[in-house]
Amino acid sequence: MILEIVTYGHPALRAKGRRVAAVDERIEKLAADMLETMRDAEGVGLAAQQVGRPLQLCVVDVSGVEDRPSWLRVDGKDVDPAALMPMILLNPEIEPIEAVETGVEGCLSFPGILADITRPAAVRVRARTLAGKHLVFEAGGLLARALQHEHDHLNGILFIDHLSAEDRESLLPELDKLSRAGMPRGV
Ligand code: ZN
Repeated sequence: MILEIVTYGHPALRAKGRRVAAVDERIEKLAADMLETMRDAEGVGLAAQQVGRPLQLCVVDVSGVEDRPSWLRVDGKDVDPAALMPMILLNPEIEPIEAVETGVEGCLSFPGILADITRPAAVRVRARTLAGKHLVFEAGGLLARALQHEHDHLNGILFIDHLSAEDRESLLPELDKLSRAGMPRGV
């Protein structure tokens, strides 16, 4: 089922996600619906906050992107990122392993807005899978960027929070417009 993606101004986007302690049918269904929703919206990632559910659950799939490379390393061995897509991650923890780089970023909750965002170029991720497996891997390129963007969402952080005051200022008119449209009815 395709879920509604909430946009900037919706309070769920600022909520820190609860950890997922146990995977039940509802979590499995939510993850499947989030994958379907991400694909329908042609995104490379989606966090539970973006469908109005503040949980530590996100999905990522960079396999359809050809012009922005990604790399993935599991147990010290290089793995084709496409082989592990889509990723469904629960309670992910991320630590940077390389210096920062700047790249363009968008967000399904900010339709029409793109911005240059500076983030570590590579990260180490620890997360749980739906099957309860503990996953540890290293990622770089677009995949590292997408993972950090989603991990931020799970903690109520948005990509515009990484902008310089100056860049934020120039986006303010668009953000104001979005924010008014994104508020839930009655709020
Ligand atoms: Zn986003």
